[in-house]
Amino acid sequence: MSQAVRIVILGVVQGVGFRPFVYRLARASGITGFVLNAGGGVEIHAEGSEASLKAFIEGLRTRHPPAAKISGLDCLPVFPRGYREFSIHKSEHQGQPTTGISPDLAVCDECLKELFDPRDRRYHYPYINCVNCGPRFSIIEGLPYDRPRTTMKAWAWCRDCERQYHDQQDRRFHAQPIACPECGPHYYLQQGDEKIHGDEAAIQEAARLMREGKIIALKGVGGYHLACDARNPEAVRALRERKYRKEKPFAVMVEKLESARELIELSLESESLLTSPARPIVLAKAKESLPGVAPENTDLGVMVSYTPLHYLLFHYGAPEVLVMTSANRSSEPIAFSDQEALASLSGIADAFLIGERPIARRVEDSVVQQSAFSTAFVRRSRGFAPAVAAKLPAKRPILAVGADLKNTVTLVVDGQAFLSQYLGDLEHLSSYQAFQETITDFLQMYRLKPEELIVAHDSHPEYRSTVHALSLAVNTRFAVQHHRSHVAAVLAEHGLFEKRVIGVAFDGTGYGDDGAIWGGEFFVGSLEEGFARVGHLRYSALPGGDAAARFPVQAAAGFLFQLEELPDLSEAPFNFPRRYFQAREMLQRKVRTFSTSSVGRLFDTVAALLGFTREVSYEGQAAIWLEQLARRAANAQPYVYQGAGLELDFRPVLKAIVLDRIMDRDPAAIAHAFHVWLASAINDIVRRLGAYAGVDTVCLSGGVFQNTLLLATTRRLLEDCGVEVLTPRMVPPNDGGISLGQACLACFVPLEQSAG
Ligand code: ZN
Ligand code: ZN
Ligand code: FE
Repeated sequence: MSQAVRIVILGVVQGVGFRPFVYRLARASGITGFVLNAGGGVEIHAEGSEASLKAFIEGLRTRHPPAAKISGLDCLPVFPRGYREFSIHKSEHQGQPTTGISPDLAVCDECLKELFDPRDRRYHYPYINCVNCGPRFSIIEGLPYDRPRTTMKAWAWCRDCERQYHDQQDRRFHAQPIACPECGPHYYLQQGDEKIHGDEAAIQEAARLMREGKIIALKGVGGYHLACDARNPEAVRALRERKYRKEKPFAVMVEKLESARELIELSLESESLLTSPARPIVLAKAKESLPGVAPENTDLGVMVSYTPLHYLLFHYGAPEVLVMTSANRSSEPIAFSDQEALASLSGIADAFLIGERPIARRVEDSVVQQSAFSTAFVRRSRGFAPAVAAKLPAKRPILAVGADLKNTVTLVVDGQAFLSQYLGDLEHLSSYQAFQETITDFLQMYRLKPEELIVAHDSHPEYRSTVHALSLAVNTRFAVQHHRSHVAAVLAEHGLFEKRVIGVAFDGTGYGDDGAIWGGEFFVGSLEEGFARVGHLRYSALPGGDAAARFPVQAAAGFLFQLEELPDLSEAPFNFPRRYFQAREMLQRKVRTFSTSSVGRLFDTVAALLGFTREVSYEGQAAIWLEQLARRAANAQPYVYQGAGLELDFRPVLKAIVLDRIMDRDPAAIAHAFHVWLASAINDIVRRLGAYAGVDTVCLSGGVFQNTLLLATTRRLLEDCGVEVLTPRMVPPNDGGISLGQACLACFVPLEQSAG
């Protein structure tokens, strides 16, 4: 007897070859009916014997395409309608979409084989892709995911492509972005007023120019990159000068894993990440030094080619190791429209390799950091966004707008938290525009009206993200304190909504309940009950407030102001510049000074004492410098933390460091001893709190924990004492994770409280 079920599948199931997979599986299991992309995911009507239906459903769960992620599968018995065969129906348009959008995927092995097969129709075609690979998020203009709602809509298929799209046996069956040299977009090279047309000629010339030491702007998946020969110090120096990027490390790209292995020391986990469809940049210990690429840094960021264009460039003889950095001036967001690229990069790039396929939105490369324990996100973007980062118990749709630095936004629909791509620092106009566009984009795609939303934002009244949240026409708003969001993000991704924990949030800056600049905070609580601040780094005065983040000696002035006696810091070995003494004067006269408990500024202070007395040229540089320095000294005799209460007192360690400096102790040993001191301070306070509150789990979050030496040492000390340690895995510990934490805390706010 034939039975029938209606199956609804949620998750990342559109644009990843899901419908063709269902089709083939149905055929193989003797199932009739149909499948379609509905706004809410994939919907199947299946008819067959009980046994074949069971096998079919089992197959759906276990044998789906690798890029698909099923977050829910519901079966409802319905009346059989007597279908004779199984087919794929047109997309449905009604209803509110809740489906996940697939992230962009690297070119697959089968397409690569065709790319270099002279008998193939798409031989050397830079836009080759199939149902298992290619762009997704970066070309989608609306849901459900179908060609007319992508940036490929301008190209009509030739007869062959159309046949493949409709051929259920073909790998390109229902693959929306497919094209071929006959009917699809092409690349051309633009140098001044001259253009070279033809994919082969253009790409070949770009490769040749890079061999000559030239800088090329090339259009990729989520924006333009600037590329040049990483082993040519002249080219690298020119790129730094033209881009106004003094010292911030560049990432490099190589053709394949084997070459990456020669550049950095890779763990097995990193190797599989490096070659995964997401193809992030992996930061790991460098084996080869590339002058100027990552100055004063022992780590190097490496990625492997991920588009057909990249493979073709290497094939046509581009240098083996390419600097591959987001195309922008200084720290602005990546340029993604041709116009924007041509206008803003004309003084930087010697030539432009321009692809005709438009990019719907900017998506920067993702970055993961490899450490002794595991890998952690530094930036979660291309290849991951906008996949679901957590499942939350949300009663209504939630929009969380994140923080102003390393901004991301999170949209929660049907309990699924979609975390946006990295949008950068909102002080840049173009980042702020991208932020606004992403919000509009998300709401449009999921057909949400602002009035149905809960909007969560940072409690900083002057954040641009806050001001924007307040300008939205919504009924329900909720302010979340920055460091509580850091802790909440960790619990959100682990799905621990009731668990009581100790939250340790260390970072550079965040607006505190008392208006001070927080950044060294200890909390006790849970997502459900909220978090009480129970301890923190001892307050220090910060002359100039957040602006002090640019000058480590300025932060040092504040922290050292609390020591009773100090040597003359204008002399060796300190050689503090004038700015330090000016800042000290500000403190004495109490002008423009702010209270802070920022551990980030404590790192700056120690870096200044050990020789980093200049201005930083990118955010967090002094702390990274200090970690690098510490890595050179293993087993240094640590400073002993002698705390008593719940205030982390920095005075004894600073005093010891000043003395050690005068006594000529090795700066690397001092840096290392400081790291161990901080880890034992955390351990001490956590254990004190744990005994008092009866809690034995701790969450470590905030940008300071990107420091893998500090994180590993802290984790070891805590775990040795039987404390369970949770760290962010799905989101970065830095402010890129804030929006997820905000969204999660907004799930637990009583609605009458949040009206704003
Ligand atoms: Zn493919
Ligand atoms: Zn074609
Ligand atoms: Fe933060």
